[in-house]
Amino acid sequence: MPLGSVVPHGSALFNDDFVLTTNLSSLTLNTMNFPPEPFRIKTVERIRRTSREEREQFLKQAGFNVFNIPSDAIFIDLLTDSGTAAMSDRQWGALMQGDEAYAGSRSFQRFEAAVRDITGFAHVIPTHQGRVAENLLFSTLGKPGVIIPNNTHFDTTHANVSASGALALDLPVEEALHPALEHPFKGNMNVPALDDLLSKKRTSVPLVAMTVTNNSAGGQPVSMENIRETSRVCKKYGVPFFFDCARYAENCWFIHQREAGYENKPIIEIARELFSYGDGCWMSSKKDALVNIGGFLAMNDETLAQTLKNKLILIEGFPTYGGLAGRDLEAIAAGLYEGLEPDYLDYRTGQVRALGDMLIAENVPVVRPIGGHAVFIDAKAFAPHIPQSQFPGVALTVALYREAGIRAVEIGSLMFTEKDAKTGEAKYPELDLVRLAIPRRVYTSSHMICVAEATVEIFRSRKTMRGLRLTYEAPMLRHFTARMEEI
Ligand SMILES: *Cc1c(COP(=O)(O)O)cnc(C)c1O
Repeated sequence: MPLGSVVPHGSALFNDDFVLTTNLSSLTLNTMNFPPEPFRIKTVERIRRTSREEREQFLKQAGFNVFNIPSDAIFIDLLTDSGTAAMSDRQWGALMQGDEAYAGSRSFQRFEAAVRDITGFAHVIPTHQGRVAENLLFSTLGKPGVIIPNNTHFDTTHANVSASGALALDLPVEEALHPALEHPFKGNMNVPALDDLLSKKRTSVPLVAMTVTNNSAGGQPVSMENIRETSRVCKKYGVPFFFDCARYAENCWFIHQREAGYENKPIIEIARELFSYGDGCWMSSKKDALVNIGGFLAMNDETLAQTLKNKLILIEGFPTYGGLAGRDLEAIAAGLYEGLEPDYLDYRTGQVRALGDMLIAENVPVVRPIGGHAVFIDAKAFAPHIPQSQFPGVALTVALYREAGIRAVEIGSLMFTEKDAKTGEAKYPELDLVRLAIPRRVYTSSHMICVAEATVEIFRSRKTMRGLRLTYEAPMLRHFTARMEEI
């Protein structure tokens, strides 16, 4: 069957044999906990229901790797929450006000004012996405012998620190290493370990980073107390403290919900307090700023800012646009404030949690507590009959697509297995996870119910899931292009 674009709309194929309206209707899940969406829908984008037969073909063509499936053939796309948000009418309106002047754009002034207002940092440098901010920063501060501690480095952060020759050191708290354990702030930094490191190696550490929320630890938040303590230790040794703040608004919401003393504090005030403990930050605006592209750095150190701006001109553009269009800066300025609205954050984190709760109620093994942007399924526990050498997480992504046209991402043995250089023996990662990342303001509660039904149905018949073997793998980052077959 050819791709969707050449199949006329209204063709019988579209509604034919759609699994969720056929064999899943017998499920009775508790779906009462979804907060209502705090928006009305003004424009819609058609998504396509494929037949099982078509999905089977797409899987074969894709070598059973969901990265290779065209988005037209996906019904609910939970591959990532990055750059996939729906913009508001205000943001679309702001786009029309973009000032595309090469230098001194009015849109930059609005953007700069918003970032300063929320973070309090004096110098604001726009970039086209988060990893460029990381590249600017770590190509400047990193070199062999240097150590960058972080609660947990996100993968692009890790890559940029490593590319400079520096060591990316993760210092998560012990609780982060146990997926089933409940703890309100599993994203925290191990402060005693940081103190110990700085007492011995102060001169090797040009900067301490803190990722909020802690993406690689399952979107888990960091408490204000932990941020304050980390800041205190950094000050004690005179080391600058920077936030990797892609999901800072979701983190501030969890502080409001879970930490004593913050129940009545407005979210924007919690954000201002958070940033007040640091010396700078960088952000992938594709997350909590509710835009499809963008990022920035902000800091108080004028000399460092000047160095980074000079580099920016080399690789991104003039410091008042930094690889973005004026209209993008307008959309970020508006999105930064929308991302801090309590109604929005209540709905946002509540939708993710409600999806997780439906799975927990049916005993599907997930990382707990449910994080801010995604539900992580423990694939080893989900399909214990599939060994890590046969990619249980990939088997689950295949089942989700085959049964319901849902795209999730494997974060496990396909992504992270290391091979011993001498013996060639495979070393499998501790966790084999499948992430259901929820785009912001894009899918309704009904879509989430649909995802839960499909997942529970697969869980109930999990014994029929099959492992996979590789037929092609690239030498690096193989998960993006790998091809497989079912065993
Ligand atoms: C997404 C992300 C980045 C990288 O940003 P891009 O915009 O994808 O380049 C860095 N850190 C964290 C915590 C992120 O979530």
